[in-house]
Amino acid sequence: MLASAGKWQIPGCPWKPSPAKVRGFFLLAALMLALFSCTRPMVKPAPESPTAREPTIRVLLTSGSEDQLQFNGTYRLAAEEADYLLDASHGQFQVSVHNHRIVLKSPARFFDLVDPQPLTFDPVSPKASFVWNGHSYRGRLILILSNGQFQAINQLPVEAYLLGVVPNEMPSGNPEYREAVRAQAVAARTYALHRLQHPAGEQFDVFSTVQDQVYWGSGGRIPELVQEAVEATRGEVLVAEGQPAAIQYHSTCGGILEPPIQNDSAASAQPDSSEGLFHCSASPLYRWVEKRTVSQLLHNLAAVDGSAAKELPGWQKKGVQVALHVRERSPSGRVALLDVEVDSRHFPQRGYGVRQVLADSLGRPLPSRLFFLLKSQKNPALFYIIGAGWGHGRGMCQWGALGMALNGNGYRNILHFYYPNLTLKKLY
Ligand SMILES: [Zn+2]
Repeated sequence: MLASAGKWQIPGCPWKPSPAKVRGFFLLAALMLALFSCTRPMVKPAPESPTAREPTIRVLLTSGSEDQLQFNGTYRLAAEEADYLLDASHGQFQVSVHNHRIVLKSPARFFDLVDPQPLTFDPVSPKASFVWNGHSYRGRLILILSNGQFQAINQLPVEAYLLGVVPNEMPSGNPEYREAVRAQAVAARTYALHRLQHPAGEQFDVFSTVQDQVYWGSGGRIPELVQEAVEATRGEVLVAEGQPAAIQYHSTCGGILEPPIQNDSAASAQPDSSEGLFHCSASPLYRWVEKRTVSQLLHNLAAVDGSAAKELPGWQKKGVQVALHVRERSPSGRVALLDVEVDSRHFPQRGYGVRQVLADSLGRPLPSRLFFLLKSQKNPALFYIIGAGWGHGRGMCQWGALGMALNGNGYRNILHFYYPNLTLKKLY
C-alpha cells in the first residue's frame, strides 16, 4: 500500500493528523529518541541480572629474601603504634629479612616493625601505585614472611588485574584486533575467577608467571585497546553449570584444535577454520622445521629422566644406537607417546615431556607436539622435526582469534567457536 503526502492514514485508525500535529509528533519522537539515547546506549546489551560484586584477587609477585620497593602517590602502612604514610619522597626501599622479620630500609626511612607482620600497604588515593622490582602495580601490597623468605602479594580488583594480564597475551596495537582482545579479556577473567575458587597457594590465588597468567602490573601505561576491551566485557565470564569454567588457551594450534581433556576418548578434533580459511595461518609458528642432533637428544633425555642421566657419560664414551618411535597420537594428531630407544632400552615420554626431550640447545621445549620426524639422509647423527603450532592446542587459539577478528567476527562468536560447550554470562 502506498501513502501519498498529506493524506496518509493508518487503516482502522480514526486519528487524522494535521500538518501541525505531524510536526509536533516528529519533534516529540526526536526528543524521546534523544533522551533514550542518552540514558541507554543501544550498543551495550542489558546486564543479565548480575548478582555478585567484583571480587579482588591476590597475585604472588615474588618469593625472595631481597627486593626493591618504591611508592608513587601515597600509601599507608598501619602499625600498632601509628600509621605511616609513604610516597616517592622516601626513595627506594630495600626489602629484606632480619631476625625473622621483614625489614624496609631507604635513604630516608627504616622500618623494623615487630607488629604487625605481615606488612600491609594500602593506597590512599586511587591513582597511587608502587614499583616492585621494576614493574608498576596498583592496589594493595602485602609482605608475608614464609620459611625465612618473604612473599610479595598484590591484592587488587579483578578488572584492574586484567589490565596487567591482557597486554601480555594479545597484540593490542591495531584497532582491527579489537574483538580478539575482548575475547582474550573474557578468557583471562574466566581463568582468574576459576582460580579464586581453586587458589594456587595458601596466601594467594594466582602466580604472576606462566604457571597461571603472566602479570606485570597495571600501574604503567595500559594500551587503549586493552582498557576498552576489559571495560566493554566487564564481569563477563564463560560458565559451566553456573560457575566460572576451567579454561585453557594457547598461542597457535597450527590448524587443528585438541579436544578438551575429558573421559570421552572418542572426542574428535576440530579444525581451526571457517569457509576454508585457517584462522591462525598468519602466526609465525603456524609451520616450522627444527633440527636436532642425537647428542642434544641424549642430553635432553638425561635432563628429564634420572636413570638416563646416570647412563649419559657411558653413552657419550662408547657411542650408542638411538631411535625415535611415535607410539601414540591424540585425536588431533599430536604426539601423545614418544619412545626414545637407546641401545634397545626404552625411555617413553608423554605429554609435555615429549616437548622437553626434543628441546633446543638453549633448553627451550619444542613449540608443540604436532609434528613428524625425518632422518637426515646424509648425517645419521642428525634429524629434522617438521611441525605446526605453538602450545597445547586446547581452548582458544590466540592467533586464530586474531584471524577471526580480522575476518569480521565479534568476540562472542570467537568465544563460542573455541568454547562451544560454555555459556557467556555477566557475573557482576
Ligand atoms: Zn589455530
